[in-house]
This record gives sequence, C-alpha cells and structure tokens, in this order.
Amino acid sequence: MKSAWVDRDAEAIVAQGAKSGVEPDLALRIYTTRLLGRDPKLVLHGGGNTSLKTRMRDRFGEDVEVLRVKASGANMAAIEAASLPALRLDPLRRLRTLDTIADDELVGIERANLIDPAAPNPSVEVMLHALLPHKFVDHTHARAVLSLIDQPDGEEKCATAFSGRLGFVPYLMPGFGLAKKAIEVLERAPASEGLILSKHGIVTFGNDARQAYERMIEMVTLAEDFLERKCKSRVIATLWREPASVAAVAPIVRGVCSRKDDKTEGAWHRLVMEFRAGTTVLNVLQSDLPRLSEGGVVTPDHTIRTKNWPLVLPHAEDGKLDEFARHARGAADRFVRHYRDYFARHNQRAGGSKKELDPLPRVVLVPGLGLFGLGPTKRDAIIAADIAEEWMAVVYDAELTGEFESISEADMFDVEYWPLEQAKLGARPEPPLGGQIAAVTGAAGAIGAATATAFAAAGAEVALLDVDFAAAGKTAQAIGETALPVRCDVTDAESVRTAFDKIVKVFGGLDILVSNAGAAWQGRIGEVEEEVLRKSFELNFYGHQRAAQAAVKIMLAQGTGGCLLFNVSKQAVNPGANFGPYGLPKAALLALTRQYALDYGADGIRANAVNADRIRSGLLTPAMIAARAKARGLSEKDYMSGNLLGREVTADDVAQAFLHQALALKTTADVTTVDGGNIAAAMR
Ligand SMILES: [Zn+2]
Repeated sequence: MKSAWVDRDAEAIVAQGAKSGVEPDLALRIYTTRLLGRDPKLVLHGGGNTSLKTRMRDRFGEDVEVLRVKASGANMAAIEAASLPALRLDPLRRLRTLDTIADDELVGIERANLIDPAAPNPSVEVMLHALLPHKFVDHTHARAVLSLIDQPDGEEKCATAFSGRLGFVPYLMPGFGLAKKAIEVLERAPASEGLILSKHGIVTFGNDARQAYERMIEMVTLAEDFLERKCKSRVIATLWREPASVAAVAPIVRGVCSRKDDKTEGAWHRLVMEFRAGTTVLNVLQSDLPRLSEGGVVTPDHTIRTKNWPLVLPHAEDGKLDEFARHARGAADRFVRHYRDYFARHNQRAGGSKKELDPLPRVVLVPGLGLFGLGPTKRDAIIAADIAEEWMAVVYDAELTGEFESISEADMFDVEYWPLEQAKLGARPEPPLGGQIAAVTGAAGAIGAATATAFAAAGAEVALLDVDFAAAGKTAQAIGETALPVRCDVTDAESVRTAFDKIVKVFGGLDILVSNAGAAWQGRIGEVEEEVLRKSFELNFYGHQRAAQAAVKIMLAQGTGGCLLFNVSKQAVNPGANFGPYGLPKAALLALTRQYALDYGADGIRANAVNADRIRSGLLTPAMIAARAKARGLSEKDYMSGNLLGREVTADDVAQAFLHQALALKTTADVTTVDGGNIAAAMR
C-alpha cells in the first residue's frame, strides 16, 4: 500500500480552506481523512474515523481546546468540515476518572459540549479520540490488519509484524470502556506509534496530518507484507456440477428470505438483492464454509449491515432447482430460528430490554455460484454485498496464514443491539412499497415514466423497460441512482426474456409488473389490412402476454405472490369509430387480465387493469389534440377536459391508479377507470 499524499493537493486544500475560514490543520485533517476514506482496503461505508485536537473560539469569543472528530456514520471519502463536529475537550478528558458511564448520559454530555449545538452526533469512538493525547488520530478497519488480528494468536502475530511499534488493546466493544483501556495500554508503552484494537482495527497517531496518515499506510503495508510472507499454499478448486444461472437461482433465494407479515394478510416483508461472484468470493465458497460461516464478523460494526452470519445454501445444480428450492427453504427457516434463539438468549443476559430486529439474512452464500447481499433497498443490498466481500477477503487471508477467529457471540450481540450502532442506520419508516421490485414496460412514455416515478416514490426499486433505451435511461436518471433502464421490445420473445433476466440479476426478483407498452393503429374494420391488425395484436395483446408470462415465472419461483397491472384503455369497453385495430387487442387484454386473476389467484398473484382516456402522451400528441379539437369545434382545453367532471386527466392520475391497485392487497380482476367520467365507457 502506497501513501497517496500529494504535496500539491495538500497545499491546494489548505489554500482553499483559507478562503472559507478553515484553518490549515483542519484542512489537512479533511485531506487525509478523504485519502483514507477513498481506499476500500482501509474503510468501507461509514466505517473508520479520524480526529484533530485544536483550538477555536466559542460562542462567547473564548479560546477553547476542542476535539474535531468525524460524525457518526459519515463517509470519510467525501468528508467536509461540517462532518467533523467540534467538542470542548477538557470535560471529555475529565470523564476518564469515572469507572463507567451509561450510553445515553455519555451522548448527552457529548452533545452538551458541542461548540455548535446543531452539529451531528460525533463518532461512537469519540472517547478514544478524546483520551489519546495526540493532535491527529486516525482509525481504520484495514483489511490486512483484520486478517492478522482476527486469529487466536493475533497478538503474537502483531508483535512480529509491527516489531512492537504498536500497542495491543484486547477486545472490548467500542465506547467508553475501550477508550479507557486504550489509554492505559498507551501509557505503558508511550513510544507507540499507534494501537491495534484486537478483533476490530488499527489506530495511528501523529503530530501532523501527514505523519498520522503515513503511519497508517506504513503499518497496513507491514501487515500486508506479513501476510504475503506467511501465506500457505492456496486451496484446490472444487469442480461443481453445472450451476444453474443467477437469473434462475435469485428468485428462489429471494423468496425463502422473505417473511409473511403477521398483521396484514397477503403482505410480505421482502428484501432487494445484489449479486457478486469475484475470485475471492468463489474461492471462499469452496473452502470450509460450514466452519467459516459461523465464525462471525471481521470487525464489530459490520454486524448492523450483514448480521453476524450469512445464510449458507447448497449448490444450485442446473435442472435440479426444485431440490435446491426445498433445501433453501429449510436452511432459511433454520437461519431464522437460530437468529431468534440467539436474540432470546442474549436479550435475557441484557435484562430483556432489547427489541428484536428482523431475523432475515442479509448475506446468502451459494457455493459454485456466488453471494447475494440483501437489504430493504438496493443501496442497502449493495452495502451488505460490499461488506460480505470484505468479510471473505479478510477471512481468506486469515486462513492462509493461520485460522480465522472473531469475537464471541455475546460480544457481537452487544454491538448489534447497541443503540449507538443502530443509530447509524437512522430512523427509517417503511414506505408502502418498501423492499418491492417493479418493472414498467413502455417506461419512456408519459404514463410509463409517471408510473415508474410514482412507484419509486412509494419505495419500490424500479426497472424501466422500453424499446428506446436512451429515453428510458433519461427517465431512470431522473428517478434516482438505483432505477434501472432496460432495453426491451415486447414484440420480441427473446428481448423480453433477456430483459426480465436482467431485472432478476440486478434486483434479485420481481413483485409488480406494470404492462403499459402500446401504440395505436387505425382503420375501418371491414377494410383494414390484416397486416395492420396483426401488428397491433402483436404489441397490444401479445406484448402484454409475453411480459406477464415472464413476470409470473419469477413470481412463482419466489412464492410470495405478486401483482400484474395492465394499461387497458377505454377502447376495451367503449370502442371508437375506425379504432378497431387498437380497440380489439385492448378488449382481448381486458380478458387477459381476468384470465391471469383467475389462474393465479391461488398463488397470491393479483391482476388488475386501468382504463384511461385522453392523456397527453405519444398516443395523443399536441398535433393530434389540435386537429381533433378543431374537428369538433372545441378549444384544446375543452377537448382535453371533455368528460363528466370537466377536468383534464394526466399521466400522473393514471400512475396513482396503478399505485392504488398495487397496494390494494384484497383486489384482483379489477378495472379502474381514469377518464374524468364517461358513461359510455363505464364498467358494468
Ligand atoms: Zn472502529
């Protein structure tokens, strides 16, 4: 590992800081914090923290000594001065005389000593930074260091690897106790350049930003060199029988990792997934998985993202997925029972005061295939997968140089259920479509885009399918970073198959299909070319059937129900003159909706339709509106609001109707009319 310090960059950030009143030490604290944060071999997703001891003027103009420490959960790679809250140092130092202090009291004291009372909460490791005397303190969960210390003889290995330059602090959970222990270790060996926190990470110090940072790099390099020197020969590859595809396996995995809601019949707690299959992942999957998977986390704070153990499933052999599904179900049920049991045992020890978190796995390992990270959102799933990969990298190197050993189960529980750790995840009320995955066809059009946007706002992860990939991409970008544009021509069976495989590979499954793609053809029915009629049926009927079939296949593999929503149009019940080529397939589509409701109701799959009319879209362009309004002697506004309510109906109104149908768990074979009122088109 090389130092990423560049004099020119350091000078630039100091010069830039000077303009906004940021002192040079703080500017350099920001600079090296970012350098540490940018290297995933040092810190991941809000892990790690840094601090600076300096002076500043408080509200009354008094010059006080302060600790500027990273805010809890802040991302080091993009740190700004505001995420390094300043606390009066003296009161924090005086806490050392106490034997213990309750978490909430400590947080209260910290907040009372913030120079800016509106600043974010400081890192859970604030007391460690406060009690260490050095001006700059850097703390990471460096991968190579973890491989070295997550071993039964970690202390001896550290003595050799670092030649006594680092003090060794035995494991204690983060917080006040650990801070006190660390300062005791340092006082016994005051020449130490840093500390190893057993089974947790590394701390380095310095008089200036560069010294603390470069000591971190040097020590991590020493750990890497040690691992390299002591590395035993690599494991021999296992040859798996032909594995099934990720697209076939993922929905089964997602299904067994879902849970029925206790209160609302028909509702499920579902998670979104992220798949990984790098070399290290595949190597660890063919090692002694039963033992390693029960080993625990590589550093305590990972537990809030991955839980302490992954769910290990059997190999998924191609052509034998029924067998895989049966075993997967059994393994997932055992995982949940094990988690509940773990909670009950340790909650009793903790005085029964804790509230059980959901017992579903956050990491699933499938030997021969790869790993899945799971979470309530795609972003959470990505974080879980990143941390699971990190776990594997650490465990792999630990096993090559010795034996992986984590903290005890009780210690893991204490961190997982520590309110200060859980606070990092923030208060997150579950949105109505939380954990669900929705696909919208014709997503680049007005109704498709509005629907995808509404579903994403309701908490679903959305896939935007369209023949116009660039336009779908634009809409996806406007929705958010995890919205997925997919090229899909619903008139082409192969294109539909590829598109739905892509959705499953990216999100792990599918819960809602909004089958919306369509186009209008016209012609007087007795004279129209058969070719025109067939073209319209191909898109306006078979296109829906292909998409629905692909969706149902995924939903059945998950076994958690689902929802099919069709854009049927008022033409299905109230045909327009010379609109036969459009209205006939739409009438067939209405029948198709009911057929799906009938055939799959017992599987919990609902099928509903929306009849919309006169929406500004690709099917009703400004030129068409102008022409039709003129033909009827109406203004454009009167033409667009020519319904019982006299109100123009928009794509957003249609999107809200689809959303309502997706949420109405007791409604299937329903048609919702969104046309401002048209008696001739009313359902009877
Ligand atoms: Zn830490």
